[in-house]
Amino acid sequence: MPLDSSAPRPVLAIHGGAGTLLRHAMSPELEAEYRASLHAILDDGAQALARGATALEVVTEAVRRLEENERFNAGKGAVFTADARHELDASVMDGQTRAAGAVAGVTRVRNPILAARAVMAHSGHVLLIGASAEEFAQGQGLEMVAPDWFDTPQRHAQLLKARELARGQMLDHDGQAAVDAGSTARPGAAQVDAKHAAAAPGSGPIDEQTKFGTVGAVACDAHGHLAAATSTGGMTNKRPGRVGDSPIIGAGCFADDRSVAVSCTGTGEAFMRACAAHEVSALMRHGGLSLAEACERVVFQELPLVQGDGGLIAVDARGQVWMGFNTEGMYRGAVRPGESPTVGIYRDE
Ligand code: ASP
Repeated sequence: MPLDSSAPRPVLAIHGGAGTLLRHAMSPELEAEYRASLHAILDDGAQALARGATALEVVTEAVRRLEENERFNAGKGAVFTADARHELDASVMDGQTRAAGAVAGVTRVRNPILAARAVMAHSGHVLLIGASAEEFAQGQGLEMVAPDWFDTPQRHAQLLKARELARGQMLDHDGQAAVDAGSTARPGAAQVDAKHAAAAPGSGPIDEQTKFGTVGAVACDAHGHLAAATSTGGMTNKRPGRVGDSPIIGAGCFADDRSVAVSCTGTGEAFMRACAAHEVSALMRHGGLSLAEACERVVFQELPLVQGDGGLIAVDARGQVWMGFNTEGMYRGAVRPGESPTVGIYRDE
């Protein structure tokens, strides 16, 4: 019997954020740790796909694992808001049914991606925010934690650094330090962005101070069904109440079996204005572009038009994968059942 060459090739791809590289700040041990954690999540995801898990199950679990890893800006280890708290956003979408669920501005749900999945499955809505989202998640039996459970000393240091930067920017803009940038008087004035923040060496291969550390996953399962999931703490020093692209379906997350599943990371405001994830799908469905052509157009042409820095991962219904970014690096990896994962950080690998 001839092999069916059109059969989907199951695959899982994940990312842990994009940003500026600080090769000099990277210790081999830390780089190895990043690579090992991506590797382990991919390995387990591949085994799940091989056992017949759905794309939706696999992306949800991969993102939950990334949320549990405090090196990434999602769940434990999320960045701080301008008033030194955490507001977490997450979303998930099922390409088969185009069902979607998301939460924004949650402060007590241990795994926001599980809350997003519960919103999708049980709320009759797509997006719940703040205290209502938390009440819903609690009612669904999800684990709740104290708001400071997400704290890490590294992220707090980044907030202090961002405040310093804000103070510098205000001096530039206003000519005098009329406002204490460390207060919440002008929160979000220097939401940290990869182009403008000062480098803060000493942590990871990608500059921790400036990286977009959102996490995400996309998958194609054995039936050719697609799913995408994205989770984030947002941007360091963001204004309380600010919501980026990650929980916005069509911006930071999108899945449609007819085209593509996409998860993004980068300057959320730009990704929202470009409707980045949906734009990839639209270019494929309506413009006839291939997966790679559509992704390249969005990352290297559309996003730069609106000052969008970052990247995305995408998979189509044949199981082809694209992972790319217009920054210097992105934590990323992909795997197919029965094969060993490929993991990358830098542009040249
Ligand atoms: N896109 C996220 C946001 O704007 C940030 C990131 O990717 O790290 O909230």
